[in-house]
Amino acid sequence: MTTSPSILVVDDELDNFDVLARLLTASKITTRSNIHYAADGHEALRSLDRYQPDLILLDVMMPDLDGIEVCRRLKAMPQWQPVPVIMVTALVGKADLAQCLAAGADDFIGKPVHRVELNARVRSMLRIRQQYYELTTFNSRLELMVQQRTAELERLIFRDGLTQLPSRAFFLKAVADCLEQGAEAFAIVLLDCDQFQVVNGSFGNVIGDELLVAIAQRLQQFCGPQDLLARLGEDEFCLLLRGVSTIEALTPVLERLLGSFSSPFPITYGEFFMTVCAGVTWGGATTEQSPEALLQEADTAMYQAKRRGKGSWQVFDRAMHLALLQQLTLENDLQRSLDQQDFITYYQPIVELETGRVAGVEALVRWQHPERGLVPPDSFIPCMEGTGLVIRVGMMVLRQAAYRMHRWHTQGWPDLTLSVNLSVRQFSCASLLADIDAILAETGLDPRRLKFEITESAIMESATEAVKITDALRSRHIEISIDDFGTGYSSLGHLHQFSLDNLKIDRSFVDQIEKPNGRHSYVVNTIVALGQQLGLAVIAEGIETEAQIHYLRNLGCEYGQGFLFAKPLPAVEFEAQYLCPPSESMPSALTSVHRPRSTH
Ligand code: C2E
Ligand code: CA
Ligand code: CA
Repeated sequence: MTTSPSILVVDDELDNFDVLARLLTASKITTRSNIHYAADGHEALRSLDRYQPDLILLDVMMPDLDGIEVCRRLKAMPQWQPVPVIMVTALVGKADLAQCLAAGADDFIGKPVHRVELNARVRSMLRIRQQYYELTTFNSRLELMVQQRTAELERLIFRDGLTQLPSRAFFLKAVADCLEQGAEAFAIVLLDCDQFQVVNGSFGNVIGDELLVAIAQRLQQFCGPQDLLARLGEDEFCLLLRGVSTIEALTPVLERLLGSFSSPFPITYGEFFMTVCAGVTWGGATTEQSPEALLQEADTAMYQAKRRGKGSWQVFDRAMHLALLQQLTLENDLQRSLDQQDFITYYQPIVELETGRVAGVEALVRWQHPERGLVPPDSFIPCMEGTGLVIRVGMMVLRQAAYRMHRWHTQGWPDLTLSVNLSVRQFSCASLLADIDAILAETGLDPRRLKFEITESAIMESATEAVKITDALRSRHIEISIDDFGTGYSSLGHLHQFSLDNLKIDRSFVDQIEKPNGRHSYVVNTIVALGQQLGLAVIAEGIETEAQIHYLRNLGCEYGQGFLFAKPLPAVEFEAQYLCPPSESMPSALTSVHRPRSTH
């Protein structure tokens, strides 16, 4: 509003207008040129746009359209509603005033108009008008500010500051748009740098950031005008490939993309090599998953790709997801069970075939699962190998069994041996020997009574480590047995590099013995002969029949283990069945298992 407000006077008598105009100019409320006249209601409404009044003085009694009706129509128009209206009327009864108020009038003034009263009421209404102006300009300024801030925030949220690529939020929104519009099928390709943390860790974040920018630029080349490339986080990028809906269409794109990582990335101080793995999933009109769930699928596929090695890629499928979920649940369960010590050790006797004497035991782990009950090792040990949990379980079994065996030694069975399985993963554990030494010291077990069973395949898998470890164990007088012998396809030439003591013939070969359609028993014959030639004791696993014992004994196989003698037993049961208190007839001897030799 200017310093000379615009005032519209509506009155069917021009004289009245003259009086008002004079009074208003005399009081310097506004200039004469800003006081406008309308002779009736219709004209008043028509002239609003032209005069842009800041205040309206409105006569009540007018022919045709009276002041009350004009006021009502004025107040119904949003753009004029805020303009104050003062009714000018000779009728000042309570009912008349109430009618004016109901029509939306802001004030009234009696006729004949008194100068002082007019002055006061007009000034007060103009003040209100002025305040309204100020408020609206303040509001619109505020609104503008909010708009600017929102835009700025969106820029921050939707753009990655380092690479200037769209962000995760933007990507999710773009996928949501595709899904909503029922767009043609598309591929989501999640890319994750292999071991990026090594770059940051060894070269610092500045180099790391430079590398990310260079990677972003290279990826951009694989992004058509329809596609979208975003940076989702740290070293994670994601491509939305519109119109790529089959593996045939995707494969060449991905091969080119991953192949492009074979050339180095330029950075300030030279060049850097980096590879990525990719996880892929599909979206389209029939997709029911949310954009977040689709990203999760791509992430699951990526996880799988990472397991296959650097620079791999993998397309998501549901079975894979379920398998992974099961695996993770199992790992989770195992982890908790380790903390709660839900693993126990069972003992299976190893018997001297010639005498039936129990020569030792093999320690076999069992998992006491809160819901699944007693879980056999084959259903969790392989899973553990992948995670390193097997190292902790292995040490726990060794400690439990070593304590137990030391007690049996001091209780009168000093010759009993303890065999403990050592998994391939334990080989690569740097602290393996120190851990073993610590347990021997802690439990007091005589290392000469301890044997580690290592599978043939584990030995072949990491032969160099195996040589070192088996040597180190033997220098402690611990014995080494090759487990599951005959199944690992090891060349015999390899075997004598290792310092070994025992061969355990795998159950599957013992099973062949004297079976009508078995592959004869020549494997067993050969292994026993080999053991004898190499000076190793041979232990046959999985003996279940008398015929097998008979056959093995005749071959000269020294030891056996199997359900025919005993299943793996909890420590107390093993004690009760086989470790009877020494008597006079059998001084400090072990109870013979199963039948005496005379039955054969
Ligand atoms: P393994 O070392 O070959 O152990 C012998 C397996 O054969 C045991 O299965 C035993 O119960 C079973 N067995 C023994 N006699 C017979 C028989 O007459 N007939 C049949 N059908 N089976 C017989 P278990 O206890 O289920 O263990 C399976 C495998 O799990 C073991 O095979 C071993 O590789 C692994 N394992 C068990 N405990 C441990 C452990 O503490 N550490 C590691 N790393 N592996 C373990
Ligand atoms: Ca074994
Ligand atoms: Ca075995």
